Formats: sequence, structure tokens, C-alpha cells
Amino acid sequence: MAEPRIVAPGGTIGILGGGQLGRMTAQAAARLGYRVHVYHDEPDAPCCQVTPLQTIAAWDDLEALARFARAVDVVTLEWENIPVRTLAFLQQFVPVHPGPGVLAITQDRLLEKDFVNRQGVPTAPWRHARTEAEAVAAFAELGGPAILKTARLGYDGKGQVRLDPGADAAAAWRGLGGVPAILEGFVAFTCEASVIVARGQDGTVRCYPPVENRHESGILAETIAPAALPGRVRADAEGIARHLAEALQLVGVLAVEMFVTREGAVLVNELAPRPHNSGHWTIDACVTSQFEQLVRAVCGLPLGDTAAICDAVMRNLIGDEVETWREALASDGLRLHLYGKAEARPGRKMGHVTRLIPSSRPGG
Ligand code: AMP
Repeated sequence: MAEPRIVAPGGTIGILGGGQLGRMTAQAAARLGYRVHVYHDEPDAPCCQVTPLQTIAAWDDLEALARFARAVDVVTLEWENIPVRTLAFLQQFVPVHPGPGVLAITQDRLLEKDFVNRQGVPTAPWRHARTEAEAVAAFAELGGPAILKTARLGYDGKGQVRLDPGADAAAAWRGLGGVPAILEGFVAFTCEASVIVARGQDGTVRCYPPVENRHESGILAETIAPAALPGRVRADAEGIARHLAEALQLVGVLAVEMFVTREGAVLVNELAPRPHNSGHWTIDACVTSQFEQLVRAVCGLPLGDTAAICDAVMRNLIGDEVETWREALASDGLRLHLYGKAEARPGRKMGHVTRLIPSSRPGG
């Protein structure tokens, strides 16, 4: 194993991507005495508002990337669709965590599902649907209901369509833009859960407690921490997250989204090698937040305590819901986080509120 390369407080962390995840990472980094330099392809993004050090340039601008790499001590990212070539280029100058190998897998649902299954971890049944003919054959094999998803660049339920029995798979595939896709059997889950796991440069792994996620219109609406799941299911979920972080040789933070079935089986839906919306509750309710944990992991510091101080319910403020900020501020037990986005477009994550709840667990 490579010797940990420690970036001590006072150093500069480069963050690729300028969204709210970068903003909250920058805030956690600042608390530990780091500077943050953000690289983004648009000005005035949420992360750009919280640090004066920024490079606004395209993801393939090699001169700008080289200048950025020389100005920072380590690079991490807050968006998993940063081009793999960008990461490989930066790596010539500076350590990049997570590295291009992790991103190559998690940017593509087909490679990701294949990787997860090869680790002996179950998912929904799935088939390649890279072409129209493959999509038709896959639907004939799996039957409906099923979900057709673009292999790349889908998020918040975008780039996917449900196929009920008798659906026209060829038309559905063309409707998604005629791009490589995956067909997944529909899982009749009782709960959607996620686990956030961190792995340090020295291979240490620490897991946050599994949480339950409720979606509205394909977007995460609410996270309930901890998930009300039987002990065995919680242990399975944590074991899977640890195993995948190790198998990826990840340095950083990984979110593992899962379905829990009525029988208590845990199936992996998706991986995100970065802080995740379902981990925002950790800022206010855990000893170490997921954002601080990312900073610790990529800087080669000891990973922090992932224990929850109390239970919590995190609710996203999506679109116009951001107008409720006054009520949130006036309510006891609520912590408000706003991301500095000027325009409240429908479906846009504008902020979140976390309700802190005294722990119901014995001794908690
Ligand atoms: P994804 O973009 O893969 O996270 O999917 C968005 C949401 O669609 C998930 O959070 C689930 O609510 C639902 N979903 C995705 N895949 C499946 C599946 N195979 N079976 C049932 N529901 C699914």
C-alpha cells in the first residue's frame, strides 16, 4: 500500500465541481484550517461563493487544469461525472482522490452493476440495452415491470422510463435518446436505504449508520436517520458498503444506495463516490460530518467518529420550498442550510433542513 501523503491543515484542497456538495466540503475544510480552490465550468456556483480561490474553465482546458493542479496539494471532487481524462491528467501533477479508476466504473451504470455483482453483492436483475435490439431482447427476457435507464449521466430520476408488461421497448429506448442503456427488473422494495462509507489513505474504513430515503417525483425528499431496519439488515447494508469501498480501493467517501425487500434482502441500486444528499444529516447530527470525513480521507488524516449524536430527519428544500426559510429559522430543533442559488427552478435543490430528534436508542 502507498504511504499516506498527508496534507496538514494550512494546505490547499482542490475541489472539482462547484455545487452544494463542494460548498459544504469547503465549509468543513475551512473549519479544519484548510484553503479550498474550486475548479468549475461556470462562475458563481454555490462552492465558488465560499472561497476566493477558483478556476473557471472547461473540463478539457489542459492549461487551466495544470495551473490548478500546481496551486493545490490534493484534488477531490463533488460531481461524479467529471471526465475521467481530466482526472488522469491532473494525477500527473497531484494526488487525486477518488481516482480515475473509481470514476470510470461509477459513471456507467452497466460497468457499475457488473462490478457490484462481481463482488458477490446482489442488485436488481439487469441486462445490457446498449442498442435498440439489445433493449428489445432484454425486455423479452426480463419482462415487465422494468426500468430502462441511460447508462451515463442520469440523476434525480432523469434519463429513465418504466416499462410495464406489453410496453414498446424499442420506442422507449429511442425515447431516451438512442444512447446505451441498462434494463433493470423492477424491485418491489419496502424501503430505500443508503450507507455512506469512508476509506482513508491507510485503508481504514468507517461507516455511517444506514438511513432511509423517501423520494418524491424521482428526487430525494427526505432522509430518516437512522433507518428503522432490523439489526441484521443494518449489518448487511454496512457490510456491503465496506466491502465495495475496499474493492474499489477508494480514498474518499462513497454513498451506496440500496433497496430493502420485504424478505430483508439488500440489493444495491447505485454508487456515488462523493458526499451524498442522504448524508447531509451528518453535518448536524454526527460527531464527524460526511464532508469533514472526505477532507480527512483525502488529506491522509485519521478518519473521524461516525457516531450519531441524535436521530435526525433531513428534508430537502426543492424549488419554491426554499421560501419556507423563515419558518425553518423560527422553529426549535431545526437547522437550516441554504446553497446560495439565485433562481428557484422546479426540481432544483435549493437547501435543506435537518430536524434534530433526541435519540430513541437505549443509552442514546
Ligand atoms: P436511480 O437514478 O437509479 O437512483 O433511480 C431513481 C429512483 O427510481 C430510485 O431511487 C427508486 O425509487 C426508483 N428505481 C430505480 N431503479 C429501480 C428498480 N430497479 N426497481 C424499482 N425502483 C427503482
